[in-house]
Amino acid sequence: MKITQGKINELLSEPGCEHNHHKHGQKKKSCQQQAQPGAAQGGCAFDGAAIALVPITDAAHLVHGPIACAGNSWGSRGSLSSDSHLYKMGFTTDLNENDIIFGGEKKLYKAILEVQQRYQPAAVFVYSTCVTALIGDDLNAVCEAAAQKTGIPVIPVNSPGFIGSKNLGNRVGGEALLEYVIGSAEPEYTTPYDINLIGEYNIAGELWGVLPLLEKVGIRVLAKITGDAKYNEVRYAHRAKLNVMICSKALINVARKMEECYGIPYIEESFYGVDDINRCLRNIAAKLGDAAMQARVEQLIAEETAALDVALAPYRARLKGKRVVLYTGGVKSWSIISAAKDLGMEVVATSTKKSTEEDKARIKELLGKDGIMLEKGNAQELLRTIAQTNADMLIAGGRNQYTALKARIPFLDINQERHHPYAGYVGMIEMARELDEALYSPVWAQVRKSAPWEEEVN
Ligand code: SF4
Repeated sequence: MKITQGKINELLSEPGCEHNHHKHGQKKKSCQQQAQPGAAQGGCAFDGAAIALVPITDAAHLVHGPIACAGNSWGSRGSLSSDSHLYKMGFTTDLNENDIIFGGEKKLYKAILEVQQRYQPAAVFVYSTCVTALIGDDLNAVCEAAAQKTGIPVIPVNSPGFIGSKNLGNRVGGEALLEYVIGSAEPEYTTPYDINLIGEYNIAGELWGVLPLLEKVGIRVLAKITGDAKYNEVRYAHRAKLNVMICSKALINVARKMEECYGIPYIEESFYGVDDINRCLRNIAAKLGDAAMQARVEQLIAEETAALDVALAPYRARLKGKRVVLYTGGVKSWSIISAAKDLGMEVVATSTKKSTEEDKARIKELLGKDGIMLEKGNAQELLRTIAQTNADMLIAGGRNQYTALKARIPFLDINQERHHPYAGYVGMIEMARELDEALYSPVWAQVRKSAPWEEEVN
């Protein structure tokens, strides 16, 4: 796949994305945002492409660029695998000044061959970075030559960081799947109940709390794009009857184009909170159009919610009325409100920075008239909101934990670095346990006490 300005514009104006449905027919500025040197924007396009594709666990992911782009990649994302751990291996061509002057193509070719010989991956994904794009290395030609030599698929992902944000990079990763992977093999058999999950990356093993539910009612997950995925399953994803996008607009281009090319409809769902997981199961069964399956779903929901009520009762008693400030992005900005409400907690403020108009409408409905919608979420703003709302807790991404510590309130990590799965019914119990442990940790009594020298002054 060549990345041209036309392609970038196409991905930035993805019609399936709500962000592009702006009031006056203009795109939102954030959609066109380019990475700014020196400004922290939560990752470049290369980072985004890697996030979308690295959870294909039996493939090797080779970064063609200086070693700093690959960075400290081992374990920095929480995507878990039930089988191969090859995806965790950080491969890079580690370009130096000499390669930049004379070109890095030969080094890349040799690296692909070496990776294939030493690790026998199902495929190799090769990512371009700013430097290799600027010096003009022909990624496509090298990948093609290496694929012929090795006999395995070698997929170029033209994702130099400078083309834009992490979100754009997610879509670039999706384009690589559409062009080279999806539709390139046939499954052994198909059923009328085959679905794909799109945009679910199996963070902290969340998928494993949901797959048994789908299995129980007779839904088969043909391909997971891309959490805990095998390369082969993504190849035959085009035979599914339904695409289910989970908690993310990241790969909306994949869902929309699969509808265009293969006639597979798509729905957007969330696995967080009792209402959402119930709705998700009901919507999948309804879309698959099987009355017996719908009855099985209703029975499963009745059983699971009854068991959940018993398991959550002690937590609900302790969490009831606790006030939470939520700072996260996209669908989670409302789906976590719904999960917190299920536990009897009150979300007093939430972020809307990365939310679509549809997300915002749901947030408004869930927050009620007194809830605060935060457009900006720097530390200062969060501290002010925590003080203003008298919040008991901050639920946010890892980088905000120090803000919570400054405010002397507990913190729960909700973003991709988290170590606990919160999806599905079992995830609700895990979330309740984590919230309870954080809120009732004895450390807060110590932290909130005045320092000895302050007491002396008093
Ligand atoms: S691809 Fe570019 S922006 Fe991204 S990490 Fe590498 S040098 Fe930085």
